[in-house]
Amino acid sequence: MYDVIIIGGGPAGVSAGIYAARKKMKAAIISDQLSGQSVVSVDIQNWVGSPSISGFDLAQLLETHLRASGGIDIFDGEYVTEVKKQDSGAFLVTVKSGKTFETKTLLITTGSRRRKLGTPDEDRFEGHGLVYCTICDAPLFKGKDVVVVGGGNSGLESVVDLMSYASKIYLLHRGSVLKGDPTTQEKIMNHPNVKVIFNGETKEILGEGKSVSGLVYEDKTTGERKTLAVEGVFVEIGVLPNSEIVKEFANTNEIGSIIVDPRTQKASAPNIWAAGDVTDGLYRQNNISVGDAIKAILNIYDELYVKGK
Ligand SMILES: Cc1cc2nc3c(=O)[nH]c(=O)nc-3n(C[C@H](O)[C@H](O)[C@H](O)COP(=O)(O)OP(=O)(O)OC[C@H]3O[C@@H](n4cnc5c(N)ncnc54)[C@H](O)[C@@H]3O)c2cc1C
Repeated sequence: MYDVIIIGGGPAGVSAGIYAARKKMKAAIISDQLSGQSVVSVDIQNWVGSPSISGFDLAQLLETHLRASGGIDIFDGEYVTEVKKQDSGAFLVTVKSGKTFETKTLLITTGSRRRKLGTPDEDRFEGHGLVYCTICDAPLFKGKDVVVVGGGNSGLESVVDLMSYASKIYLLHRGSVLKGDPTTQEKIMNHPNVKVIFNGETKEILGEGKSVSGLVYEDKTTGERKTLAVEGVFVEIGVLPNSEIVKEFANTNEIGSIIVDPRTQKASAPNIWAAGDVTDGLYRQNNISVGDAIKAILNIYDELYVKGK
């Protein structure tokens, strides 16, 4: 029986693991991958303590620190498929390989995944001309015309990533003003190969077999349907929290983010805490995930060892 099982090994989970080890808690961390979402980022410039670090190097640093802390069990490469509450109040955690683990408390740090467009045939094109990770796949579109869907920070960053490769980049945004960082907006607006389209709602992806040949959008101001001749569609329209495993126990908001008390990171159900991108916290950043997860593990420690529950 563990005191706490941390599910998810991104910046939040790893930080919680390091603190659990320092507190000498009987703890385990289970993650399909010790790294987190920003592992694909070529340059992270806001990780406090480093003006510039790649996502890969950051992931390595986090893992090295976690392993050096010792004292907690690390199950890397294991994906949690089910969490069940037992009559005793403890949780039974099952992973894909079939192993089970028992724990008094849970800290959910499972992060989030990309939101899909919802167009017909989206799955057919996925991984070919339809891309959800620009940083990963931008080089494959050298000399091609592409469209980035989404006018938030991720959409803007995608355009910047594509500037070194694609010959023409459309940025298709549903709204009438871009939402991202002003410096990046300026860079995009002034670039000769970028065209920003406002009030455009994606309707369909065109193509033969798995190859993309265009994107149809509706101009929301006129109702007219227009086609962009592109070979690549980069989807950057937001994230969905990976909260399914505890949805039965913990309250979530309209997009499935686990609702937590921001003072403690405690969820609505007894003995469940959550931190990082899986929660209803307002901001999704590496540093924030780390701080929230530390808050959570300290609160779990207080509940179990200080208050002696
Ligand atoms: C391309 C990109 C660039 C970014 N750049 C920056 C940046 O420059 N600066 C910044 O501050 N933030 C950046 N972010 C945001 C930042 O990556 C996130 O805020 C941060 O990773 C959230 O950390 P987390 O630990 O909550 O979740 P995640 O990083 O999502 O980690 C969750 C982990 O849990 C694992 N997991 C999920 N479900 C299960 C399960 N059922 N069983 C086992 N394991 C599971 C996942 O595989 C993953 O390893 C970027 C994000 C992206 C996508």
